[in-house]
Amino acid sequence: MKRRQFLKTAGVGLAASAVAAPAIAQTMPEFKWRLTASWPKSLDTLYGSCETLAKYVSEATGGKFQIQVFAAGEIVPGLQVLDAVQNGTVEMGHSAQYYYIGKDPTWALFCAIPFGLNARQQNSWFYEGDGQKLIDEFSAKYNSRCLLMGNTGCQMGGWFRKEINTVDDLKGLKMRIGGWAGKTLSKLGSIPQQIAAGDIYPALEKGTIDAAEWVGPHDDEKLGFYKVAKYYYYPGWWEGGTANHLIINQAKWNELPKSYQAIVTAAAGYCNIEQQARYDGRNPAALKRLVSQGVQLRPFSPAIMEACLKASNEVNAEEAAKNPVFKKVLDSIQAYRADQYLWWQVAEYGYDSFMIRSRGRG
Ligand code: CA
Repeated sequence: MKRRQFLKTAGVGLAASAVAAPAIAQTMPEFKWRLTASWPKSLDTLYGSCETLAKYVSEATGGKFQIQVFAAGEIVPGLQVLDAVQNGTVEMGHSAQYYYIGKDPTWALFCAIPFGLNARQQNSWFYEGDGQKLIDEFSAKYNSRCLLMGNTGCQMGGWFRKEINTVDDLKGLKMRIGGWAGKTLSKLGSIPQQIAAGDIYPALEKGTIDAAEWVGPHDDEKLGFYKVAKYYYYPGWWEGGTANHLIINQAKWNELPKSYQAIVTAAAGYCNIEQQARYDGRNPAALKRLVSQGVQLRPFSPAIMEACLKASNEVNAEEAAKNPVFKKVLDSIQAYRADQYLWWQVAEYGYDSFMIRSRGRG
């Protein structure tokens, strides 16, 4: 090809691709999906992640793929999100998988278990370790596909009307607590209850429950627990890094073009980071406000932490003995945790512990 002719042809090609781009957009199929969340609208961290997802998916598809977000209770109650996705009532949901331990306790392993992975380690296990592969295998039985979409970081130990000084103080305590941790508290004599976010405050106010945990300062302040219980314990040893998931009906997912699947995957990944960033950004101010309102911060004593670890190990061993899938996923988490903390004790912990001690020194 002569040089002049080549340039002419290349120029034509360029012009053709410049006009072709909008034509491709016009052929993109339209989807209108519904997302049901486990959260009330007031929780700008958790519910806010769903809004971020919908925004980016819409913008990346030129408005062709619309996701309408519904709060807990608008379509189904907050603890029935998986059911609604599984049976096709909605195409997608956003939830904490440990709400579904009644179906199989294995669900909790993908969300948070007592003394489990912290937030960074959760991400690593899912993205780099076997987490995603294991949840793909497991969630197929529920006609659903799950993508990480948020983490709360380490949670607080919750709100108590009375001080918890000894392990015996946990006996007879009626406590709202999320997920698998209830089993551990039962072993120590407490009476755990799983209650959705919007229903916790009235139960605590009426005295139906004696204590309640939700997430941490930012969310907990919004839910108002400090008005009815003044002792605020830490750490939430049952939620070192709670992973939330986008749950998608598998058949509906299969109907999406590959490009839309990629957009949803990328948007969920962004939301995953954004949610943790929001909690990290908003918790300090909320903690200061709560303490200025007279909230009493209390650490769980080392004896309480040790007793809870022992009880938790017993609970997990009992379930693993009768549930091979639970055992397989638990083994994967425990091996990952051991290696992670081998590494964390060196640079991460060394750095953070020094910086925490020198915080006031500028
Ligand atoms: Ca919690």
